Amino acid sequence: MSLYREKAVVLRSYKFGESDRIVVMLSENSGKIRAVAKGIRKTTSRIGARLETLSHVDVQLYRGRDLDTVRQVDLIDTHTALRINLKRLEQGLSMVEAVDKLTPDREPVPHVYTMLSRALRSLNDAASPLIVGAFYWKLLSSEGVAPALDDCVRCGSSTELCALNMQEGGILCRSCRSGTAVSDAALNILRQVSSGGLATALTLDESPAVREVNQLAMALMEAHLERKLRSVGLFDRHL
Ligand SMILES: [Zn+2]
Repeated sequence: MSLYREKAVVLRSYKFGESDRIVVMLSENSGKIRAVAKGIRKTTSRIGARLETLSHVDVQLYRGRDLDTVRQVDLIDTHTALRINLKRLEQGLSMVEAVDKLTPDREPVPHVYTMLSRALRSLNDAASPLIVGAFYWKLLSSEGVAPALDDCVRCGSSTELCALNMQEGGILCRSCRSGTAVSDAALNILRQVSSGGLATALTLDESPAVREVNQLAMALMEAHLERKLRSVGLFDRHL
């Protein structure tokens, strides 16, 4: 069995046999990995304490056919501040859950790894009401499905933009509107997030526009995941 080493974020883990767990991680260069952590459920397991969901780790693994096996784990960051605050913990879990659902096994997505590890570090350092919405929007952009925000996607008008429609591929003006209503304030935040102003957007305080962006991004993410799962289902039936 070949040994390899990766930096990774732990997305989740589940029971396997009597005392083992399968740990699902997003690694820097090998994509999403599933690995058996042996004896991890014993209270004396040091590896177990290091492989908690949301931890950022440096891990050594034996490559297996379907499942890899964890050999050694060093912690890069446990994100302690994030864990002890319920709101931030929920936000962190929402981010790893979306990444887990979006990412196929063993397909390298280094940009997603970078986005996720940065977002978790940033959330650990400071509270950010917008982080899940902004993170989902960036993920949708990296999947090539984030709606266009510049001009009305139907008539090209750049004024009175007021609705978002995924099927139409972006923003719509007052005369063409369909889909979900968007306020000017929320549209400004979305434009900031998608055009390099993410760091500033993350410092915004809680507000109706921030809540609107979070809700919009969550709805878009759910719709995208559903479509993706449906298309995977179709593909499976043809195998
Ligand atoms: Zn229009």
